[in-house]
Amino acid sequence: MTRIYGDYAYSRDVIAGNHWAGAVPDAALEFPPVSTLNRANVVVIGGGYTGLNAALHLAENGVEVVLLDAEFPGFGASGRNGGFCCLGGSRAPDIQLRRFGDPKDVRRAEVAAISHVGALLDRLGIDADRQEHGEAIVAHSPAMARRLPALAEEFAEAYDVQPEVIPADQMTARGMGGRWHGAVSVPLGFSLHPRKYLQGLLQAAIDAGVQVFGHSPVRQIEGVSGGVQVVTDRATILADKVVLATNGYTSENVPDWIRARTLPAQSSVIATRQMSDDELAAQGWTTRQMSYEERRLLHYFHLTPDNRMVFGQRGGLITSAANEARIAHRVRRDFDQVFPEWRHVETPHRWSGMVCLTASLTPYCGSIPGLSGGFAAFGYHGNGVAMGSYLGARLADLVQGKEPQSVLPAAFRTPPPRFPLGPLRRAWLAAEYSWARLTDRSNYAAS
Ligand SMILES: Cc1cc2nc3c(=O)[nH]c(=O)nc-3n(C[C@H](O)[C@H](O)[C@H](O)COP(=O)(O)OP(=O)(O)OC[C@H]3O[C@@H](n4cnc5c(N)ncnc54)[C@H](O)[C@@H]3O)c2cc1C
Repeated sequence: MTRIYGDYAYSRDVIAGNHWAGAVPDAALEFPPVSTLNRANVVVIGGGYTGLNAALHLAENGVEVVLLDAEFPGFGASGRNGGFCCLGGSRAPDIQLRRFGDPKDVRRAEVAAISHVGALLDRLGIDADRQEHGEAIVAHSPAMARRLPALAEEFAEAYDVQPEVIPADQMTARGMGGRWHGAVSVPLGFSLHPRKYLQGLLQAAIDAGVQVFGHSPVRQIEGVSGGVQVVTDRATILADKVVLATNGYTSENVPDWIRARTLPAQSSVIATRQMSDDELAAQGWTTRQMSYEERRLLHYFHLTPDNRMVFGQRGGLITSAANEARIAHRVRRDFDQVFPEWRHVETPHRWSGMVCLTASLTPYCGSIPGLSGGFAAFGYHGNGVAMGSYLGARLADLVQGKEPQSVLPAAFRTPPPRFPLGPLRRAWLAAEYSWARLTDRSNYAAS
């Protein structure tokens, strides 16, 4: 497969320390490769939240579905993310969204996406360690703290909710002790165990009749007379329709249309061992609320139900074992700065994976131009637990020729343009990271 990072980024080495695999090991998600099949109604490529949601919703509507993953369902970001089922997906500012209509459509979709996952967990009876406390944006400097009331108003206006501004002197009482200068608490979203959600979804899809195959990288998709031809190493399948759900793991040439329309970026996470109540109290951070810092290169973190801190941030641009170790070291260094009372606490788990950006700064959900019967959803900008799940379900509507059963913003139905620089487009990230570091530093300086 032709992808823009080195092979190491797509290897199993980077998930060897994945904390979530403790409850749901890779082996529990393995399936044999497709070999004898040559005809299918719908082929879904990619077994993450997007592909599984599409497959489940299609199968529940009586459609015959075959799902293929290059490794195993959950191998990608869906089996290794931070566990925030939260707002996000689009990074486009309102001024850009207005070209497509009411920017609030995007905000409605973000809220609908969270509700979609919540309803799915309830309906399917999936116990995914849900912790329903919404999300907090914490201020790491007095300058950022001064912005909190305005930020709360922005959230109120965008999402029709009542966020709460938490002043610095109330942070400890709220279980948010540390170096923070205040926070905004937004009552939307919940944390979950990414792999428990994934496994529940996978089982539901299988129960609904989806045929699942692993170790089946799709090498080529092509429109042919009578449908779409899907080529793997051991099988060539003629499908009526194809759903591409490969997000940050997309190949440049599957299909040709996708080339340079995604920009994968690495995200890196560490997780502590279980901490005692005394250790939590020493730091003063006891809240179970998902939290992130109001800065450009943000840290995101939450306490799991069994008292482990999961802590993540944007990863590197180069991929190798040495670089992976270097980035993990950097994440740990940041963790120590953020939670100094936990300097002695070991972080035995570290892993990384790919999120997916687009040049339009919005996700895409729709048909694949030039490929009759082809559909795709991707580009959640690091917030795909809710949005990927939701757009997978909306893709299932489109594949069946139905109107979307819930809001699908016009901005998401417009194919993103290609990034300039082709295979060298990681250079955009280098520029963005440098700018972000500079801005974050000057915000600290403004304190
Ligand atoms: C470290 C990390 C932390 C994150 N934290 C959060 C978070 O806390 N909250 C949040 O909302 N989002 C988070 N995200 C993003 C979120 O996990 C993703 O947006 C979401 O899981 C994408 O789901 P997906 O199904 O579209 O793609 P993925 O889950 O990435 O699945 C794509 C699948 O496609 C398969 N594939 C690729 N090419 C082929 C091919 N040619 N043939 C067959 N199969 C193929 C891959 O093997 C893979 O399994 C995080 C991501 C990472 C990496």
